[in-house]
Amino acid sequence: MNGQPVNEQAGIFDFEKLVRDIPDHPKPGVTFKDITPLLKDGEAFAAAVAALADGWGEIDIVCGIDARGFILGPPVAVRLGVGFIPARKGGKLPWEIEQVAYSLEYGEEHLELHKDAVHEGQRVLVVDDVLATGGTAEATGTLVRRLGGVVVGYSFLIELDFLGGQAKLGGSPVRSLIHYA
Ligand code: AMP
Repeated sequence: MNGQPVNEQAGIFDFEKLVRDIPDHPKPGVTFKDITPLLKDGEAFAAAVAALADGWGEIDIVCGIDARGFILGPPVAVRLGVGFIPARKGGKLPWEIEQVAYSLEYGEEHLELHKDAVHEGQRVLVVDDVLATGGTAEATGTLVRRLGGVVVGYSFLIELDFLGGQAKLGGSPVRSLIHYA
């Protein structure tokens, strides 16, 4: 299985038209990819979920990344008939945690999973809205593996190819529905 979407329904949607560019948000020089127009289009949302979820082979659990992975991950998990686990920014999870620090442009951030989120040998699909520099997704993969899970692959709505995030993901299959070169 490679990272290409296999869902035919996805082919009829021009997802890119449903992503709004917000210049200089949240800071000058960054173009924020606003996915809310896509989310409010029921057909497009369903097609995107199918395209993110289908064709990965056996998946035991879906891991969504804080925060928009919490919008996309759960419907992917329901479609696959499996559970969902949230990888949260530091200090949000209430129970015992596994934690990874990762670098942001300015400073450092932490990502956390509950210690019992993944069991040994479980096959995990990681879901988020945007793959940018890859630091967040890499940290999530590290957490999953620390807990004994196997990262089967990563599904993103959007990949900012020019930032080279895939290189951080250790050769794991990556599927992105929209690419910005
Ligand atoms: P990175 O760790 O650089 O790959 O950043 C990925 C995380 O930051 C994801 O959780 C995204 O939601 C968010 N993100 C990064 N860049 C953008 C962008 N241009 N538009 C929207 N979200 C972004």
